[in-house]
This record gives sequence, structure tokens and C-alpha cells, in this order.
Amino acid sequence: MKSLSNYINGEFVKPLSNNYLDVFEPATGQVYCKVPDSSGDDIQLAVHSAMNAFPDWSSSSIDERSSYLNTIADLLESRLDEFAQYETRDTGKPISLAKSVDISRAVSNFRFFSEYGKQYEFESKLNNDSSINTVIRSPLGVVGCISPWNLPLYLFSWKIAPALISGNTVVAKPSELTPFTAFMLGEICTSAGLPPGVLNIVHGQGNSTGNALISHKEIKAISFTGGTATGRAIATKTASMFKKLSLEMGGKNPAVIFSDCDYDVMLETVVKSSFSNQGQICLCSSRIMVEENIYNKFRKDFVEKVSTLIVGDPIEDSTQIGSITSKPHLDKVLTYIELAKEEGGIILTGGKPVSLKGRCEEGWFVEPTIIDGLPNTCRTNQEEIFGPIVTIIPFKDEADAIDIANDTEYGLSATIWTKDLDKAKHVARNIDAGVIWINSWLVRDLRTPFGGMKQSGMGREGGTEILNFFTEPKNICEQLS
Ligand code: NAD
Repeated sequence: MKSLSNYINGEFVKPLSNNYLDVFEPATGQVYCKVPDSSGDDIQLAVHSAMNAFPDWSSSSIDERSSYLNTIADLLESRLDEFAQYETRDTGKPISLAKSVDISRAVSNFRFFSEYGKQYEFESKLNNDSSINTVIRSPLGVVGCISPWNLPLYLFSWKIAPALISGNTVVAKPSELTPFTAFMLGEICTSAGLPPGVLNIVHGQGNSTGNALISHKEIKAISFTGGTATGRAIATKTASMFKKLSLEMGGKNPAVIFSDCDYDVMLETVVKSSFSNQGQICLCSSRIMVEENIYNKFRKDFVEKVSTLIVGDPIEDSTQIGSITSKPHLDKVLTYIELAKEEGGIILTGGKPVSLKGRCEEGWFVEPTIIDGLPNTCRTNQEEIFGPIVTIIPFKDEADAIDIANDTEYGLSATIWTKDLDKAKHVARNIDAGVIWINSWLVRDLRTPFGGMKQSGMGREGGTEILNFFTEPKNICEQLS
């Protein structure tokens, strides 16, 4: 059985303790490889190597750094199908999604920041009658990037690319549940000739490896994506160390459907926004809010469409719903279905684990599930489930829609469906969420700020926001004589 390695100082190395964790293929429920269960000593090695690499990397030209990122994007793209297969094996997501979304977007992340970094003002001048102010934005030093299991390489690269283009060196920790493509990224970096120590990838568990990374005094900033409880723990732990923090966390996103929407486009897109990647995308709609005059029609049509989704082996091109990414997460999702029933919810479709035949008979599959009849205030509608489970909730009018949409601790994203664009914009301005789509979902321009409000996030990623995060401004003021 293959054992993955850490990638430190440009080399693949074993964890110093020689301890490993099992990695499961969720579609089969079987262990298929081992990943280092790294300790603080491995983190120390990685930070040391990143510190050594920092002077040269931070003083290299933007064109040099851009060229490395572009080469990484090219090499990744040339192995897109292979990476997609490994991403599917690790996560259980349909292979079509791994190709079209996960790995394609990882390529775009490197390519985008390779170009965007060249347009960023690392140095700017502000003159007035009495002084010249030169504002320099410098890299921070060694930064930590921590990512979750739902979009492994996509989110890993979304952090690493801007950190590197800004001149930082990086110690990155992928999720211990889905480490394979992060491991393969080390191969790509070696092929691209990335100088040793510029990017170090250390595998392991959150409360040991992750904790050692965030606590290390030389880690100047932490870019984290994961659950709100973990984000809170990281913020608490690092508060006295004054590290820069960017936290992208959970959500409970509303889809607000008005009766005057383009119904067919809405229906098709809401099925995707609810169940893509088995609902395990932080931006998935989980509370489907429907204007009451089309509630019954929508409920019937939505159930009809969702009940035909193909749950199957994620390596099959025809599969639309793959497996849940881990056994504990499967158990959590099933517990929420039971909770919804206890709270008085009616399961309109789904609600049960799925047993497939053959290769996947011990895999972790759940039927896409729609629940009706629950008030927005109940736990099912307030807590993040992060699985193929949505509730449908009626609303009366615009004001009622805004109230329900905002009645949650989270504020990551929302979708609004109406042909009346004035109404859509009014609702969008009044919903507390960092990303709002009108008549669409998951359309992304990587220059725009990405992130959440309330318990969903602190700071923003994307475009200038993340380059500001990964740099420190300094103003040098010359008085004019
Ligand atoms: P998680 O918080 O359990 O883990 C995320 C990462 O943090 C993993 O690499 C983990 O090992 C590490 N970690 C855990 N404890 C740590 C600690 N004490 N110190 C340092 N690192 C630690 O999240 P998850 O279960 O992997 O991912 C699912 C969650 O991620 C969901 O809540 C989802 O909404 C969220 N998410 C948010 C976004 C976003 O952009 N807002 C995107 C994707 C996923």
C-alpha cells in the first residue's frame, strides 16, 4: 500500500515519527493509502526550510514568480485527467465534477494569480503639495495555508498561489482525509523547478499538525478554510500572537425563489446548487426559500427532478451524486435526517443511505434528500449539515424573504431568482452574505472578493483582497522642501 510523504525543502520525506494515518476511498469504504501523521517536529523542519527560502524568493522579480506559477498551471493542466481521478478517489465526488470544477479551477488559480500578481501595485506613490508618499507592500515571510476536504486541490491552490506570487514562502497542510492531490502537487513543483523550501506540504491531523502550524511563532499569517468551530479555535489560539488571519468557514445558504423567475432555468440550477458534490460545497444552497404562490408547484417539480439524480460510483461518467467523503461525516448527515424528523420535518424524497452493488457496496452514499414543513428557527434550518440535504421553506413577500434569509448565524452566500432585477438587487443589498448570485450560481470572477459575513468568515480571498492579506503595507513619506 502506498505511503505518501511530506514535501519539505523540495524533497519527499517521511514523517520523523514514522507514524501514518489511513486514507479511505469513500466510494468503497476501504483504506487505499497512508498519509503522514506529522508532528510539530515535521512542521519545524518545514518552517525552517521556508525561512531559508524566503530571502531569495521574496527578492525575486514578479516576472520570475509569475513564470513559476504559470509553469505549475501548465504542468497541472497536462495531467488534468490523472489529477481528477485521484481527486475522485479521495473525495468520492463524481469524476465529471473533479475534471470540470476541481482540477480545472486549481489550474485557473495558479494561472490567474500568475497574471494578476503582475498588475498588483506592490509599490505606489501618493503625492501632495508637501510630501511624496511611497507605499510599499512587502511579503509577510512564512505563511500557513490550511484547507478542507470538500474541494481539496481547488482550495489548497486558491491559498498557495496568491501567497507565493506575493513573495511569501509557504507551509501548507491539506485535509488528512483527502491528501493525495496535494501530495502530487509536490511532484508538479519539482518538475516546475520551484526553488526548494518555497512551498512545503506537511500532512497530518488538525489538532496536532495543524495546531503546530498555527502556533509556530515564525508563521506570520494563516489562511484557513474549514468549519466555523475550527476557525474559532484557530482565532482563539492565535489571538495573543497577533498573526494575520483569513478564515473561510461554514454556511447555511438560502436560495430565494420568487414566482416571477425564469422557472426552468431556476429549477435546473437550484438542483445543482443544492446537490453538487453531494451538497458538500460551502456555497451550496441548503435552505430553499420559495414564494408561497408557487410553493406547491415548485415542491412537486423539485422532488421529481431530484429523485431522478443518479447516485453511483463516482468514477462513472454518468454519476451525478457520488459518496459522502468520510464515515464520520456520513454519520453526521444521517443524524441530521433523524433530527429533521424529530423536529417534525417531512421527507419528500431521499432520507436514506444508498447501498450500491459491486465495487461500491461498502461505500458511503446517501440519497439526495428534500425536507418540508420545518420552521426556519429549528436546528435543521440553523445548523450546517454540509450534505445532500435541503429544506424547503415558504415566504410571503420580499420583506419576509429577507428576514428568513438573514435569520441564521451564517452569512456566506445566497442566490436570488426573479426576472425583476430591481427587486433582486434590493433583496441582494439586504441579505447579509459575502457572495450573492442573481439568477445564477457559482459563476466566479477570480478578481472579486470571496468570503463570508457573521460566523461564515473573517477577511476575504480572491483578487486584490488576498494579495493585500498576504502583504504588509509600509508608507515612506518624504517631505518636499
Ligand atoms: P475542518 O475545520 O474540520 O478542517 C479544515 C482543515 O483544518 C483540515 O485541514 C484540518 O485538519 C484542519 N484543522 C482542524 N483542526 C485544526 C486545528 N485545531 N488547528 C489547525 N488546523 C486544524 O473542516 P472540514 O470538515 O475539513 O471542512 C468542512 C467545512 O469547511 C464546512 O464547514 C464547510 O462549510 C467549510 N468550507 C468553507 C469554505 C468557505 O470558503 N467558506 C469552503 C469549503 C469548505
